[in-house]
Amino acid sequence: MKGMVFIGGKWQAPSSGKTIDVIDPGTGQVIGRIADGQAADIDLAVKAARQALAGPWARLTATERGRLLTRLAERIMANYDELVDLESRDCGKVLSTARSDIKLLARYFEFYGGAVDKIHGEIIPYQNNHAVSLVRQPFGVTGHIIPWNYPTQILGRSVGAALAMGNATVVKPAEDASLSILRVAELAAEAGFPEGTFNVVPGYGATAGQALISHPGVNFVSFTGSPQVGTIVQQETARHHVKCVLELGGKSPQVVFADANLERAIPAIVNGIIQNAGQTCSAGSRLLVQKEIYDEVLARVADRFAKLRTGVQSDDLDCGPLINARQRERVQRFIDDAVQSGARIAAQGKLDGVPSGGFYVAPTLFADVPREHLLAKEEVFGPVLAAMPFEDEADAIALANDTDYGLVAGVWTEHGGRQQRVARAIDSGQVYINCYGAGGGVELPFGGFGKSGHGREKGLLALEEMSITKTIVHNYE
Ligand code: NAD
Repeated sequence: MKGMVFIGGKWQAPSSGKTIDVIDPGTGQVIGRIADGQAADIDLAVKAARQALAGPWARLTATERGRLLTRLAERIMANYDELVDLESRDCGKVLSTARSDIKLLARYFEFYGGAVDKIHGEIIPYQNNHAVSLVRQPFGVTGHIIPWNYPTQILGRSVGAALAMGNATVVKPAEDASLSILRVAELAAEAGFPEGTFNVVPGYGATAGQALISHPGVNFVSFTGSPQVGTIVQQETARHHVKCVLELGGKSPQVVFADANLERAIPAIVNGIIQNAGQTCSAGSRLLVQKEIYDEVLARVADRFAKLRTGVQSDDLDCGPLINARQRERVQRFIDDAVQSGARIAAQGKLDGVPSGGFYVAPTLFADVPREHLLAKEEVFGPVLAAMPFEDEADAIALANDTDYGLVAGVWTEHGGRQQRVARAIDSGQVYINCYGAGGGVELPFGGFGKSGHGREKGLLALEEMSITKTIVHNYE
């Protein structure tokens, strides 16, 4: 498996013969290697997927595909400890996060396995003596570009839905997080997925990723990652008139009104930003608080931030390392620039005793961040929370919508009318009222407004996204 690609149900050496080192973010040590996949490998994977579509895969009923997905979920749980260990060491996840990710990975396959034979078409009333039906079909070969922050969850939600609808898939995991995805491909073959339905080509974005999104044999692309690369994906897929779903970043607000239940809100707000060391697209990274309780909320959140502990994954503390040196430098630069431009650090967690080779950043709470500041507008993708006061409901909505992103929002208030008004007025794909869900939510459609992307994954809507309708008009006169 080491340094190989998984194509047509088998391990193969990559065409270049080259590999990429796998680094444990907690220590900076090399712990393995993956294939440095190239365009030639992507081409082989697309051909294998095309062959699968012409073979037994296409003849399976929805129920039979569902059974395979369910069996894969069982194989994942049967290999749970191994997958948790891989995910934790490869991605720098503290153990509790890695455990929850692998359970959710299995849950996606279980959910889509159970759902797929309940997806019905429609009968459309039309002229006399005509039967019109709307049926759903697979696109064909679907490409899946996966980021490093939640590789297994994102694999489950995107590949799970695509396979459920009968597509054959080619996955390009992130260069920093491929180990568990490669293992899942092997488990899929063991579960009985026909050859070529689940191909994985690890490698860099500019080579393997670019080859996948521009391959003329790919009929649909699901991309999760940065807005910058999302733009490239949209441009490339447009050249072949191929649909893409883009799940991009976020700058999600936690909106706390003066009547909020702070006992419930404060722990959820802190967890919503430090989970996975802040490397969560739906992290609640802006804390917007009504001015009457701003000082109190800030003091209570600061108290928790000051006590946050960061360490190696196996210690399972509040935060682990960031994914790599580049990401650590990026997050640290955000913090340093904010301090230099006069933003106030209200509290910072400790970094005592972390290995010097690891990629750690102290969780940091900034207070009174000016509304036009970069910290108020741009995704940091680290454990950094920016607090700002607001005046009233109208100001809260304006401030919540004052970024180019729109992925998730949290609204904290006991006022029933305001809960609905604010939830409906915020431009984001999900709004949580008196709770917050960063990640997770297998059943809940998820996706962005604006710079957070378009299309929906998770829940039953993903099955619509990953299939195409055909209208069949039958004159039976
Ligand atoms: P990234 O865009 O750099 O990389 C994501 C994936 O795209 C990787 O597999 C990478 O190899 C690949 N890639 C890079 N260049 C490519 C190219 N030219 N063609 C094709 N593929 C290419 O993002 P990242 O650093 O891995 O992840 C961080 C970003 O992802 C953040 O902005 C975060 O918010 C976002 N994200 C969004 C969601 C969501 O569901 N909305 C989930 C997780 C992460």
